[in-house]
Amino acid sequence: VQAAEDGVHLPRYVRVNTLKTTVDDAVDYFKRDGFAYLGQANRPDDLELKAKSFVRDLHLPDLLVFAPKTEFHEHFLYKAGHIILQDKASCLPAFLLDPASGGHVVDACAAPGNKTGHLAAIMKNKGKLFAFDLDAKRLSTMSTLLLRAGVTCHQLANRDFLKVDTADPEYKDVEYVLLDPSCSGSGMVCLGKDSSSPDQEKEQRRLANLAAFQLRCLNHALRFPRLQRLVYSTCSVHAEENEKVVAACLQQNPGFRLVHLLPQWKERGLEPFTQCLRASPTKTLTHGFFVALLERHSGAVSTAP
Ligand code: SAM
Repeated sequence: VQAAEDGVHLPRYVRVNTLKTTVDDAVDYFKRDGFAYLGQANRPDDLELKAKSFVRDLHLPDLLVFAPKTEFHEHFLYKAGHIILQDKASCLPAFLLDPASGGHVVDACAAPGNKTGHLAAIMKNKGKLFAFDLDAKRLSTMSTLLLRAGVTCHQLANRDFLKVDTADPEYKDVEYVLLDPSCSGSGMVCLGKDSSSPDQEKEQRRLANLAAFQLRCLNHALRFPRLQRLVYSTCSVHAEENEKVVAACLQQNPGFRLVHLLPQWKERGLEPFTQCLRASPTKTLTHGFFVALLERHSGAVSTAP
């Protein structure tokens, strides 16, 4: 477990960028490159791979899984934007939001843009993808990454999402929001945790500030007049930033409810928010993560994956 928590034993996840290639073509390329393809993973143990072998992921159709530390930064498919090196947990938000091709989508806190690129791939580059971020430097990195990934349906804006006017006619057709706001990052296992004992009071204050920001973003995002679905995600393991933010949001927005996500996913949100997903190195072989999907009440049965 400790080794996994150091990040060294997490599998190498490779998202196939379906804007540039297909999963089958990527599989063929890797086979020709000397990797042994073991087929579709059927159970979690199948993701624990030896060097030079790979499988298709258990849950995500555009994800390939390799042995930990398999290096792809110099690989042709990476440099050409055909593959994206993205942790499995971080692929969940766009997959679960599942925006329609041609739809209007907001990525509220978007940089450096891995999830934006994933959304664009799901949308087949059709529709409008409004991506906001406060940090100009991160946005400029994002621009380069999206160019390499062949994304064209996006509109980047260096803006404070909380100041975006949700009633602006430009956003009148927005039906989907992905909200992945700044968080404590406590789920990231390879950041080299500070070993000194933390100042508990300071830490609690920091979490409370982050949670207040996250809730403001959520409440703001739910104001898009035609919004149907919103994914909220963090790479935090703290309930303060996850279930507690969702609980407060639902209380303040009775027109929205949680959708039960991926029944086959074993690690669930803390009680009573078991509709949501959690992820961790030990249980899902990923970084620590949280995902919730809110939908507007319509009386219809949800069709989420
Ligand atoms: N979704 C991104 C991805 O997958 O690559 C990661 C987003 S990161 C967790 C959070 C981002 O929120 C940071 O890039 C930060 O600059 C941005 N941010 C923080 N406050 C913001 C605000 N008020 N409006 C817009 N973006 C904000």
